[in-house]
Amino acid sequence: MSTTQTDNKTFEFKAEVKQLLNILVHSLYTSREIFLRELISNASDALDKIRFKSTKGDEVADNDLPLEIKINFDDKKNTLTISDTGIGMTRDEIIENIGTIAKSGSAEFIKTLMESKEQTNNIIGKFGVGFYSVFMVAEEVEIKSKSYIKDAKPIYWKSDGTGSYTVQELDADMKRGTEIKIKLREDAKEFAEKYRLESTIKNHSNFITFPIYIKDEKVNTVSAIWREPKSSVTNEQYNEFYKFLTYDSEPPMDIIHKSVDAPIQFSSLLFIPKKHNDFFWMNKDNYGLDLYVKRVLIQHKNKDLLPEYLGFVKGVVDSEDLPLNISRETLQENLVFTKIANSVTSQVLSHLTDKAKNKPEEYVEFWKQHGRIFKLGYSDFSNQEKYMELLRFNSSSSENKDGLISLDEYVSRLKEDQKVIYYAFGSSRESIDLDPHLDIFKNKGIEVLYLFDPVDEFVINSLRKYKEYEFESVENADLKKLKKVKDVEDEKKEKFEKLEKDDEKHFSSLLSKMKSILGDKVTDVRKSERLSGSASCLVSEDDQMTSSMKKIMKMTHQSFGEDKKVMEINPDNKLIRNLIEVFKKDSNDPLIENATEQLFESALLLEGNLEDPHKLVKRINELLEKSSEWYLGKR
Ligand code: ADP
Ligand code: MG
Repeated sequence: MSTTQTDNKTFEFKAEVKQLLNILVHSLYTSREIFLRELISNASDALDKIRFKSTKGDEVADNDLPLEIKINFDDKKNTLTISDTGIGMTRDEIIENIGTIAKSGSAEFIKTLMESKEQTNNIIGKFGVGFYSVFMVAEEVEIKSKSYIKDAKPIYWKSDGTGSYTVQELDADMKRGTEIKIKLREDAKEFAEKYRLESTIKNHSNFITFPIYIKDEKVNTVSAIWREPKSSVTNEQYNEFYKFLTYDSEPPMDIIHKSVDAPIQFSSLLFIPKKHNDFFWMNKDNYGLDLYVKRVLIQHKNKDLLPEYLGFVKGVVDSEDLPLNISRETLQENLVFTKIANSVTSQVLSHLTDKAKNKPEEYVEFWKQHGRIFKLGYSDFSNQEKYMELLRFNSSSSENKDGLISLDEYVSRLKEDQKVIYYAFGSSRESIDLDPHLDIFKNKGIEVLYLFDPVDEFVINSLRKYKEYEFESVENADLKKLKKVKDVEDEKKEKFEKLEKDDEKHFSSLLSKMKSILGDKVTDVRKSERLSGSASCLVSEDDQMTSSMKKIMKMTHQSFGEDKKVMEINPDNKLIRNLIEVFKKDSNDPLIENATEQLFESALLLEGNLEDPHKLVKRINELLEKSSEWYLGKR
């Protein structure tokens, strides 16, 4: 630098930047070329911003400059320069923007990078790691920038990417924009070669909407393929554009390309990725569609064109009917924008509905990838009908845990006189299968939805019903509604003689005894109408909330009053029959107390609500010890 420099100051990078730099400088990432993608994308953003300001009528320095990106290199000195005529940066902006990581989710990103050494490759490529990626190839970076603000001083920034950077004002004359000069590392010389630069740009930056020149030769095809008729776009172009947009290495699962003329004109080009995004939940800023007005980018990743539950969709929307100078802040209040957003949402839902109907196997694949996010749509009341048709659950009729059915299929299999859709919630299919509350449903051959995903419970609770059928958990099922549904014959089931009148009385006293043993841990102990096979279970009386929901609320420290239940006992069970015999001989036999406590705690354990398992384990061990002694004939 031969110009006069004033106000030379050195700054330390923020801690998280240092961490990221340390990872990038030492990374063995094989596709280091993405640094160029990042710098070009920043240049393009800066150009978008100035175009936006200019169309809005703001005062802009050097307003007649062409909007473009230029790349120069020197293979003798191993330098590479990327310049743009974009918005530029003031001194404060350069310190603010380049010295820190403001993006939300970047702290998590760095953490993920640090934790998964072997996966660093994919992660760096997938995320926009931004400006700092330049230090994968740079020994030293110099930035010269001149803000669009009329009298702003040009700024000079320099760093070797270790711990600090210097900033100073330049007294030189400079036109609006930013120039980034990279002194390439010895092992990154290749980026001072025309061919390497050109192929990298073709690969990652081909759809940038401003011309990119390498030494005065234009290298990208500037075209808005979303505005072209479907018939003239090849699959390859779609895939290339998708890759450019998402950094995904695979082609998309689905492409939705639409052009609407009335009542509002807009084009949309949307993609559903083949794989779900692992980082969706920790990097929520990353979703949204790019909004264009008359081919001019207004906003990257706009979050109001699609609801969050369709956040897996990527793409662009472009309209002639919005004003070019619309401000991002007032978009949501713009009626035309709202109509476009509703229409885009419908496009996605209709596409999914068609897919579910015409390509059910492919829909299952979609569901496995994106169903977890999609399920969050339970609060989209305006599209609830379509949403519900698109839901999929495992059920007792599925062959294994991977089976999926729609609510419509469930309803088509309703038993005569069945008016309710039943569901059971549990941590796995196996655990639900063992739930004694399901006995009566198995007996009557009634299908039950099996829900394993915590969000399922919120979905069901907020929907409340599908068509005219209410949802009811098996745990709180109203038995009166089941009375009319006939039992199905089951050969394998153990048959029990009806209890003699006398034994019926003893059973009744046994139940009272059990109640006195459990005290106020239960509200009552009763004969069960729902069990067959299992000995006992806990049920809530006139209570809508399932035990798993209560567990969730307990975890989030919400109180829901006393949580006491009725213990139901099934007389047609071997253990209970034996207990009746024991009770007849000696109503105070300690086995009765032990068995009662055990049945109660086992039921709690199955629900996941047993707080302290020590007593239960001790009791089981004592019982095992005794039975082993019996087995050996010692008693
Ligand atoms: P991101 O682009 O995701 O914001 P980056 O690390 O790539 O993150 O860039 C950080 C910020 O630096 C940008 O948001 C922008 O404000 C500023 N910046 C980077 N490059 C340029 C440029 N060529 N012109 C103007 N500002 C830039
Ligand atoms: Mg960037």
